[in-house]
Amino acid sequence: MSQTQLTPILSDIWDAERSWSLETYRSRGGYQALATAMDMAPGDVVETVKGSGLRGRGGAGFPTGLKWSFLPAPDGGPRYLVVNADESEPGACKDVPLMMANPHALIEGVAITSYAIGGNHAFIYLRGEVVHVYRRLLAAVREAREAGLIGTNLGPNGDYSLEITVHAGAGAYICGEETALLDSLEGRRGQPRLKPPFPAVAGLYARPTVVNNVESIASVPGILRGGTDWFSSMGTEKSAGHGLFSLSGHVVRPGQYEAPLGITMRELIDMAGGIRAGHRLKFWTPGGSSSPILTEEHLDVPLDYESVGAAGSMLGTRSLMVFDETVSVVRVVSRWTDFYQHESCGKCTPCREGTYWMKQVMHRLEAGKGLPTDIDLLLDVSANIAGRSFCALGDASAVPIQSGIKHFRSEFEAGTHTPAHELFPYEASAVF
Ligand code: NAD
Ligand code: SF4
Repeated sequence: MSQTQLTPILSDIWDAERSWSLETYRSRGGYQALATAMDMAPGDVVETVKGSGLRGRGGAGFPTGLKWSFLPAPDGGPRYLVVNADESEPGACKDVPLMMANPHALIEGVAITSYAIGGNHAFIYLRGEVVHVYRRLLAAVREAREAGLIGTNLGPNGDYSLEITVHAGAGAYICGEETALLDSLEGRRGQPRLKPPFPAVAGLYARPTVVNNVESIASVPGILRGGTDWFSSMGTEKSAGHGLFSLSGHVVRPGQYEAPLGITMRELIDMAGGIRAGHRLKFWTPGGSSSPILTEEHLDVPLDYESVGAAGSMLGTRSLMVFDETVSVVRVVSRWTDFYQHESCGKCTPCREGTYWMKQVMHRLEAGKGLPTDIDLLLDVSANIAGRSFCALGDASAVPIQSGIKHFRSEFEAGTHTPAHELFPYEASAVF
């Protein structure tokens, strides 16, 4: 059996009638994993998820069970699960369809995870713009509560309780950074906190908190149902399991494709009907705008954390944006740079100032009015942002420019033939 025949798992009921209802979810075995988990000791549930090899599906790929095990021993005070549903990476579009089509997979995962970490209150932090998802989650939480799956008197002894709050943010990309998300949830302006302490030690209201992505948590019921060997039989040795791959752009059938990690981009493009007729692939991203772009020569790289890293990029959110030869790399990089400049929270200087200046330079290159020194300038500014910023947003803002120039330098050079005295008639020595 080929690896792809093992899936779909997360998306298996998406095409079913009223796939989002509790009735449909239960008719496919939904919430049996919760009953299994509640018959186990919480620590054994943590060990099961640890043993499966599940890694965080929000982009960073941190081992999920290991993160849960970082929580300090219970001290009688509250501890929380916070689901990061603030999907906002350009190109990322897997969590929204997952929550729309199968919200109960997430809610069952929330209940299992909360039980495992000893939490009695979980939060799902959602982008405020996706009102339809907000309503669907609220309805699903209500259904689960009415069915006695969450609330009070849970578990075989009736001594466990769980409340789930769905919170809609205000649509700032930075609130997807886990500590900014926690600040926002606490009612403050969402800006990243210094780490350590990690949320596992001091998170929401300074209490031990697990922050996990939607897809990570929705994968937990399957692990309890199928077992660790089943889960780790998919994917690769260090990147176990299955995942949603979001293909957008110039393929015939853009959409969500679920497959074991380690599938290649060539296979996924075939599944999506190929590149649109009469055109050929120019470049693509494995993980949205924050992962370095790749080209045709990388089509056979297995899409797992290690192999994509070795190819000079990052698997990240598996947001596979596909661009054919009609697309200007400079234009795409310029739009992504606009995005990072707009979303920079302003807390630290390299990102706040650097993204502003990179945007100015990209705009003049795009207009064909760049200076001969602009490519060196962009590389210099981006190198002074990456690794010197307070959070990953700053690092990510350098990625499109650096990888765009690496693979398509001549396209950037084409816009750099303006003499400085034409651009700056009064101050020819200025570079900005
Ligand atoms: P990170 O590697 O710093 O942390 C990953 C997770 O592991 C965090 O939850 C962190 O708290 C935990 N962790 C790491 N070390 C720990 C330790 N020693 N003790 C306890 N916990 C520890 O990555 P990050 O900054 O949280 O996330 C960056 C990633 O987010 C990028 O790779 C990018 O792909 C992704 N991203 C996703 C989206 C989206 O829309 N889904 C948007 C932007 C970025
Ligand atoms: Fe804010 Fe950017 Fe600094 Fe992150 S890197 S703290 S987004 S200014």
